[in-house]
Amino acid sequence: MPYIENRDAWFQGQGLWPDTPASDWRDWTWQLKNRITTLEQIERHMVLTPEERAGCLFANQKLALAITPYFFNLIDRDDPDCPIRKQLIPRVGETQVSQEEMLDSLGEDEHSPVPGLVHRYPDRVLFLVTDRCAAYCRYCTRSRLVSNAQHYDFHPEYEQALRYIESHPEVRDVLLSGGDPLLLSDKKLEHLISRLRAIKHVEFIRIGSRIPVFLPQRITPALCDIFKKYGPVWMSIHVNHPKECTQELKDACERLAFAGVPLGNQSVLLKGVNDDPEVMKALVHRLLRMRVRPYYIYQMDLITGGAHFKVDVRKGIEIIKALRGHTTGYAVPQYVIDAPGGGGKVPINPDYLEKITDDEVVFRNFEGKQFRYPLKSTPVAKPAEAARELVGDTLID
Ligand SMILES: *Cc1c(COP(=O)(O)O)cnc(C)c1O
Ligand code: SF4
Repeated sequence: MPYIENRDAWFQGQGLWPDTPASDWRDWTWQLKNRITTLEQIERHMVLTPEERAGCLFANQKLALAITPYFFNLIDRDDPDCPIRKQLIPRVGETQVSQEEMLDSLGEDEHSPVPGLVHRYPDRVLFLVTDRCAAYCRYCTRSRLVSNAQHYDFHPEYEQALRYIESHPEVRDVLLSGGDPLLLSDKKLEHLISRLRAIKHVEFIRIGSRIPVFLPQRITPALCDIFKKYGPVWMSIHVNHPKECTQELKDACERLAFAGVPLGNQSVLLKGVNDDPEVMKALVHRLLRMRVRPYYIYQMDLITGGAHFKVDVRKGIEIIKALRGHTTGYAVPQYVIDAPGGGGKVPINPDYLEKITDDEVVFRNFEGKQFRYPLKSTPVAKPAEAARELVGDTLID
């Protein structure tokens, strides 16, 4: 069922919460307090399939169930195949663990010099600052620690992590993630960002957050002021499907962009959600309209109970092929597999290159037409004379 984009519809409104005062609705703390977290609450609003029902009963042993009212409104309650529904409502498939799956599929714990810090690449670190999110994605890479449903008891050591970064001059890039860093209070965030900004060798600060998508109300003027004050702070948001691109998200992105925050997007390729070139094209077009540059499409990591979301890598390549050349270059993200066990992100690209020798490169364009680019220079018959004609006598002899 291909997704047909209604290019001008940006969903907005209070949906199932029509009587909530607008001032509450727009208050992020109200949204958090009123999250849907139990089977009973969901069933007050919709009929679940047996697979979903069983998934909900089991959810709290794996990854907590939580959905903000704002985001719950985006679920199509009449369609079990709704792409929002699949991302947020647990299904029994989560309980089916396959042999190749791992709790810590990226080997993050092994590359962790300090609790909460992952130093895998030479020049940058991943700084996990919390284990909480505004809502929980059923395919989460860090479900081992996020939401603490598996009793990982994650305790980031901010001071130790900051000291590690201070004493490692090779670290020029710090990525705050989690969990969701924007769930921290303004005060804590300002403390972290200002401390990082004060470190001379830290050139690049960025935040990975799904808060603009789950809880756009959190992007307050006060928060934006922090980014302005200590900027540039870059942000990667996480949108998987065009339905998530609402008026509220668009407004939140605008507030961030106007505070000087360059925005990128990371999507995870998910079966039945966005494993379709038409859906991805609609998504990347919407992202550009919201000032967001598509950054990565991830092949899903080998998380436990994730098999029902798994997409064939050939499908991912087909999606990139359907984008590159067919639409704005800015709209084309890089497809990557984060190497299992901890090898880092590896780009996976369609094969445009057919042959490369000392003489030439043979390649195909987006339409499949073949082209050649010579690598060897073949001089014309009388080089000196030809050059004289071009540049005149004075320059040559
Ligand atoms: C993804 C990731 C980064 C950032 O990688 P970029 O390609 O620079 O976006 C850094 N550290 C770890 C451990 C990561 O997983
Ligand atoms: S927002 Fe990110 S960290 Fe949180 S549950 Fe979703 S994927 Fe995991």
